[in-house]
Amino acid sequence: MKTIGLLGGMSWESTASYYRILNQETKRRLGGLHSASVVLHSVDFEPIERLQHAGRWDETARILASAARGVEAAGADFLLICTNTMHRVAPEIEAAVDIPLLHIADATGETIVQQGLKRVALLGTRFTMEQPFYRGRLEERFGLDVLVPDPAERERIHRVIYDELCLGSIRGDSRDDYLRIIAGLGRRGAEGVILGCTEIALLLEQEDTGLPLFDTTRLHALKAVDLALAGDTPG
Ligand code: GLU
Repeated sequence: MKTIGLLGGMSWESTASYYRILNQETKRRLGGLHSASVVLHSVDFEPIERLQHAGRWDETARILASAARGVEAAGADFLLICTNTMHRVAPEIEAAVDIPLLHIADATGETIVQQGLKRVALLGTRFTMEQPFYRGRLEERFGLDVLVPDPAERERIHRVIYDELCLGSIRGDSRDDYLRIIAGLGRRGAEGVILGCTEIALLLEQEDTGLPLFDTTRLHALKAVDLALAGDTPG
């Protein structure tokens, strides 16, 4: 079994989901008392969030590159950044270590292509919905047609992530707004919806909508277990 390296804490609410999925899936596949081998550096999110909103991405890159080097030195065989947004600085983090980075958009894009979908909506922070680092990768590597909500809807989605979900607050009115936005994206032709923020699955479930949901937290974590157990046999 390989050791999974995690850069987490962004927010810790979703890192807890990663930790649970990694262990549940490892146990499901191997049985008995098997659990995932994990090295986690969980950062203090407040300064990272301030730097994001100030556009100081180079400073976030320095903080996360240093954390990644620590995760590598502690024995991780490969690395996950447990947030879609901070893949904004994935190239800098990747360059700081020798171990491979398992990119969250690749885990997601592969699944969407396997399911035969072409036109998908993307929900996430404004950074993820508006900047090219994420949707560009889905479009270029996977040939997907990526739709995003209109500006007012993007702002609402963004604020719910930072003001509620990252603080562990799950509200029915916010769920209703997300579902209304998803229904509109369906009318614009979306065949599925990427939950492109690692906290959104705390708010929405597949049963809430008829459109297929692609939960990036789950897809990323499951791909990590695939990689960690490649070559291992149950027992
Ligand atoms: N976890 C979120 C994401 O997947 C947002 C928090 C952050 O800015 O990292 O994008």
